[in-house]
Amino acid sequence: MAEVDVAVVGAGFAGLTVARALRDAGRSVCVLEARDRVGGRTDTTTVGGTTVDLGGQWVGPGQDRLYALADELGVETVAQFEEGDLVLLRGAGPEQLADMVDAFSDDAIGAYLTAIGELEALAENVDVEEPWASPAAEELDSITMASWMRDHMPDAGGRDLLELGIEAVFATEPANLSVLHLAFYCASSGGWARLTDTDGGAQQDRFVGGVRPLAEALAAQLGDDVVLGAPVRRIDHGDDGVTIHHDAGSLRARRAAVALPPTLAGRLDYRPALPAWRDQLTQRLPGGSVIKFHVVYESPWWRAEGLSGQVFVVGGRIDVTFDCSPPDSSNGVITGFFEGVQAIAAADLGEEGRRDHVVGVLADALGQRAHDWVDYVDRDWSEEEFTRGCYGAHMPPGAWTQLGYGLRRPVGALHWAGTETARQWMGYIEGAIESGERAAAEIDAALG
Ligand code: FAD
Repeated sequence: MAEVDVAVVGAGFAGLTVARALRDAGRSVCVLEARDRVGGRTDTTTVGGTTVDLGGQWVGPGQDRLYALADELGVETVAQFEEGDLVLLRGAGPEQLADMVDAFSDDAIGAYLTAIGELEALAENVDVEEPWASPAAEELDSITMASWMRDHMPDAGGRDLLELGIEAVFATEPANLSVLHLAFYCASSGGWARLTDTDGGAQQDRFVGGVRPLAEALAAQLGDDVVLGAPVRRIDHGDDGVTIHHDAGSLRARRAAVALPPTLAGRLDYRPALPAWRDQLTQRLPGGSVIKFHVVYESPWWRAEGLSGQVFVVGGRIDVTFDCSPPDSSNGVITGFFEGVQAIAAADLGEEGRRDHVVGVLADALGQRAHDWVDYVDRDWSEEEFTRGCYGAHMPPGAWTQLGYGLRRPVGALHWAGTETARQWMGYIEGAIESGERAAAEIDAALG
């Protein structure tokens, strides 16, 4: 049986980061990846002759590790296009607007901004290392964002705005996450605007050629130490190390880093079984739900009509779209998302049904030329056996304060990585990298 210092389960950005850091520290590593590709919740494909990201794609200010990695690996970024008017769909006809604020009453905008101010004030007191130990943690963790909005935001328009933002950031409804979790997200990223904005926020830049080259370049540095097509099924663990059983064989290691989304980490067969606190934690960390789509056109024709390609839909099946055409505008791409319960329901429509729905929405918002699409692709990440939820997991009420301490705490020779264990930018590629660095340092210290 092969034997290494550290076995890494999962070759997303977290797992690849753990492995590279430990290999650089002189440790022998082996990364076991279930899929026949690396990158996990990021993936890039070609459709209609253009390159699109089916998973994670944007990077923005404050995500210094990811910018540095792209720089090191020679992958360039391009600013997210947002020139022109956006279109809002909320029942009646399309509303073409220079800014979202133009569509809402002063009362609604005031309510929204006041709520954001209050949430950010709460975030200032959240300790990203130990959110459960923050002042008022228990109170904030006993309320969902939906009930907080009902109590704090009498204006329905203000609630609509915040709900759009929450669904875009968490891919789940306000009823599913605790106020402490939203405050933690603000603290972990630098504020609500950082999470939701394009320019100045997490959607500011895209990678030219997509994210896949980044993951592949990282994996290439690890060479044969990355094994694809090797789903891990069982981990035997004890004082003398771990034995990992996967579909391509078995592996002995002194320590293991499990770099999976928490739901999937909880589904592995651990022998002996994990302590109650760890298993209960992974039972309480559901993933959001996302179907990401791209509609390809011969050109970004909406630009000539003064439109940015950004469409916001209130109360519809899709929430938001962006113009993700290639930098040379050799064709046009509208990218968007089904999120939360709408994504779960849209699974039943099938790809063709979703395409027809999306094109219909784009025709309503941008014009009838939307029907002249060249190609369409989408990916339902909740359907994916080795992901099952996106963008990341979220904390419902009680999870942070009752079990949050178990997120990063090792169990003997088992260590935990993955974006859900990040202190900075949880849920993002940046968080995955941060978690990988943290887990690698922890393992290196433990190995002595
Ligand atoms: P993962 O990428 O999930 O890696 C886990 C790996 O483990 C996977 O490769 C998986 O195949 C493998 N695996 C699973 N089970 C097993 C098993 N039993 N044995 C072995 N291997 C296994 N982030 C951003 O920063 N910017 C964005 O614009 C953005 N947009 C997103 C859009 C979508 C549609 C999605 C889905 C995600 C988006 N994200 C974005 C989030 C980002 O992609 C993730 O936070 C990040 O990629 C998570 O990395 P990870 O390494 O923690 O986990």
